Formats: sequence, structure tokens, C-alpha cells
Amino acid sequence: MTFNSQLAGLYIHIPFCLRKCPYCDFYSLTDLSLQPAFLDALAAEMNMTRELDQVFDSLYIGGGTPSVLNIKNIDNIIKTAQECFNILSSAEITLEVNPGTVTMEQLKGYRQAGVNRISIGVQSFNSANLDFLQRIHSAEEAQMAIKWAQKAGYENIGIDLIYGIPDQTTSSWLKDLRSALEFRPQHLSCYMFSFEPGTPMHKDLQNSVFTPLPEDLVCELFETTQSFLNANGYVQYETSNFAREVIDASEIKSAQSNVSRHNMKYWNFSPYIGLGPSAHSFIEPLRFWNHSNVKKYIQELSAGRLPRAGKESLSREQLMIEAVYLGLRQTKGIVVDEFDKKFGVNFEKMHAETIVDLEKKGLMVFSKNRCSLTSRGMLYLDSITTQFI
Ligand code: SF4
Repeated sequence: MTFNSQLAGLYIHIPFCLRKCPYCDFYSLTDLSLQPAFLDALAAEMNMTRELDQVFDSLYIGGGTPSVLNIKNIDNIIKTAQECFNILSSAEITLEVNPGTVTMEQLKGYRQAGVNRISIGVQSFNSANLDFLQRIHSAEEAQMAIKWAQKAGYENIGIDLIYGIPDQTTSSWLKDLRSALEFRPQHLSCYMFSFEPGTPMHKDLQNSVFTPLPEDLVCELFETTQSFLNANGYVQYETSNFAREVIDASEIKSAQSNVSRHNMKYWNFSPYIGLGPSAHSFIEPLRFWNHSNVKKYIQELSAGRLPRAGKESLSREQLMIEAVYLGLRQTKGIVVDEFDKKFGVNFEKMHAETIVDLEKKGLMVFSKNRCSLTSRGMLYLDSITTQFI
């Protein structure tokens, strides 16, 4: 974790999906008739927020399914954002797309509107997995969407995959990874499947509709992901995220240019502003968030009020816990002298016993001013963080 990277990120949440996937707990609705009112409200929120103290080098349009919006809508959103916020001309502008909602023309149009990074929610190339996840697209449609994105000229393409799906085997997961690598994407996010409370799949789990994968197999899939992707030129920089290594003009190998600039904001304590229903913002030490309800969001903005649902000011202790959690998520770990300087503490002394214990268990490495988790340690990120509290 590197503190004080002061360039900010702007996130815009598009709260619509064609159909809800039963495992997903992101806020979205399938009632697309609210789109026009939502787009007006979003423009109003941008105009009212006008955060001019910050300089932004990333804009991320996520959701939900932003690709349910047409080219004109995306073009308007980007233009309004550029009018209301100080966004660098070199900013990374990412759009999340669902393969079941895009055409070649659309992808070309989004690029002309300024999008320079596409994140494609493939999740799996295996039909049985896609059926289980109840995705709206087939494996072939996912492959087409990636090809179209490449043909449309995107030079920064990310693919999202999910592992740990019931009945998945190591060989079927490897097949998914190989299918993704056929396209040599610049970025891969591999998320561990989880049963999020409140989702239909969580209910199914409680009703024993299916059996989750045993924990040791999920661990094996995680380790397989790390070793397979590393062997194929992808650098893991966060628990679930991998960037493709490239050789730069000075012949130096680095994956830095393919790292998601926007997501790094969340993990490095950089400021970010979130717009749209359910979006969160953080400008240290303040965190504030919007209503997770499109109708309420529209109502508030129509009445001339920002759609804030809550805010909190994080105490020094809360910030330290966050710094540990966010630092340990990243492979570079916690940069100890920066941590000490920021909080006026001696991290190593404070946590000497815990560090020695975790090192003995092969879950942590403490060396050269870095405190980071081993590949295995990353599997226990949450429980390890609690040991530092
Ligand atoms: S398409 Fe994405 S955001 Fe929408 S329900 Fe499915 S996983 Fe969630």
C-alpha cells in the first residue's frame, strides 16, 4: 500500500441489468423504464457535486450493467463528467460490459465517446457454469464480445472470471483460464464464488439445493490460478487481480501499465467520488454513500438535494484497520515506513507476535520494509486482518 497518491477516481454506478443473477448483491433493477429519469438525475448529481478540489485520472462506469445504455447515453455521461470534474485528458476511462448486451457497433461507439478500457463480465466459458450462474449470455457470445472489443481497437481489456462454482473441477477451471488467455487480455480478475447473504443463491444454499465446493478444493483453485497465470506472464497485484506483463521501451518487464488504475484508488487510500445509487465516496477521513434505491435517488435529486444515505468520519483506529486490510490485499503488502509515518506508530513493534506467528505458519512475509501475505496467506485475508485489530 502506498499512501497519498492524491489523484482521485470517479465512479459512476449504472443501476440496471437485463436480468438479476441470483448470486449477485450489487444494487441494480431490471425495470429499464426508469432509465431516462435516472440519467437526468445522474446529470443533476454531477452538476451539484462538482468536486473541483480533486484532479481525477480515472473514471469508471460500472454497475449493474452499463452496457444496457446506448452510445449516446454513455457519450453524454462522459461529457457531463468532464464538464463537472477536473478529469485529466490521459485518464483511464473504463466501462463494464456484459457480453449479452453488446454489439461491435456499440463497442466502437463507446470508444469514440472516450472509453479506453473495457471490463467484460465473462465469468466462465463453460456452459454448465453459465447456466448455474444464470448469466444472460453464452460462452460463444462472451468470446464474440472479446473479439469485437479487440477489433474495435481497445488496447486495455479486462476479463472477469469466477471460480469455486459448485461441481467445478481443477481441470475445468484451468480450461476457463486457458480460454481467457487465448485472447491475451491485458487484465484478468478471478473472483472466488461466494454466497452473499440476501441473494437467492444464499437461500438455495441454506435449503441445501446444492453442495458448495469443499474449502480445500477452493484453496487449490486459488493456488492454481496464481501459479498458472504467473507462468503465463500475468502478475498478481491484488488477491483477485492479475495484470499482463509487457516489455517497455527500455526493455524492462512490468505489468504496471495494465493494472486497473481505478481499482488501485480503493486499495491505496486515494480519494474517490461515487455517483449513482449505492455508490460510495471517500475523501480521507470522510466516507459517504448514496441511497441504494433508484426511485429515492431520482426523488432526492429532483428536489434539489444530493442523494446521500449516510456519512461517517473514520477515526485514526478505523483508518489503521483499513490500511492493514487494504495493504494485505495487495501483493506488495503494507509499506511499513509509510504506515509508521502516517499513523505515528511502529507497526513492527505493535504486531511483533502476530507477525512471527503468521510467518511460522507460512502465511506472511516480513522483509525489506514490506509486510505481505504469502499466496496461501491471501486465502485467509479476513481472518488474518482481525489478528491485527
Ligand atoms: S449482470 Fe452483473 S451486476 Fe447485473 S445482476 Fe448479474 S452480476 Fe449483478
